[in-house]
Amino acid sequence: MFAISKIGRPLDPVWEHFVATPLKLPGHFSALCKYCNTQFRHGHPNKLEIHLAKEYEGKSLDDEIRSKYLEIVIQRQLSKEKLV
Ligand SMILES: [Zn+2]
Repeated sequence: MFAISKIGRPLDPVWEHFVATPLKLPGHFSALCKYCNTQFRHGHPNKLEIHLAKEYEGKSLDDEIRSKYLEIVIQRQLSKEKLV
């Protein structure tokens, strides 16, 4: 689901909102939020989506971006619950 391209760049669209810096481990990246400069030492797309969806409530992130990722996060939670 979170495919990494062969040239080693993250493909998940969530990376659009973060600056990716490759780590020593191939296919792994640290992430820097373009909006608030929060640094994630290991930028897992799940975590980054939650950051965009949840950590901006009442803050200045574009509503369109926030609601898009809120939807993604909620959908993922729902599909996890179905698996249990
Ligand atoms: Zn941020």
